[in-house]
Amino acid sequence: MFGFLKGLKVTFAQLTHKKVTLMYPDEMPDFGERFRGVHKFSPEKCIVCNQCARVCPTSCISLSGSRGGDKKLHIDTYDINFEICILCDLCTEVCPTEAIQMTDTFELATYNRVDLYKNMFWLDDNRKKTEGILEHDASSFGGEK
Ligand code: SF4
Ligand code: SF4
Repeated sequence: MFGFLKGLKVTFAQLTHKKVTLMYPDEMPDFGERFRGVHKFSPEKCIVCNQCARVCPTSCISLSGSRGGDKKLHIDTYDINFEICILCDLCTEVCPTEAIQMTDTFELATYNRVDLYKNMFWLDDNRKKTEGILEHDASSFGGEK
């Protein structure tokens, strides 16, 4: 009986506390400035130095480039496998041009593992969405590649 009353005391004490749960997805969490979500990519900034791919501890970045008429290297393909990316931020730390950066996007849930491979167009679209250039539609993140 004493235990039961003790339990009730804890329950009633909690009733007056401020709620910490959110009605997600109607209510989005307030991310801290240093939150590390999935990446955004600016193809025009990439100099194909390969540093991001080399530093990646899970080898989830693959890229290729070619030399253009201006004799400079340009990115042709840039893919991240978010099945194994651990969002460690190392790739963005080493990037000399800030072509690859983290965002606060985190909604990648999908029923298909192949959807977790994101190419440079998806990553560039993610940049445009997070910078407000493209409309942000969270429901589209899981399905596109
Ligand atoms: S965040 Fe880490 S694991 Fe993910 S792509 Fe960058 S270096 Fe690789
Ligand atoms: S480190 Fe930056 S500039 Fe170099 S290949 Fe990666 S994204 Fe491109």
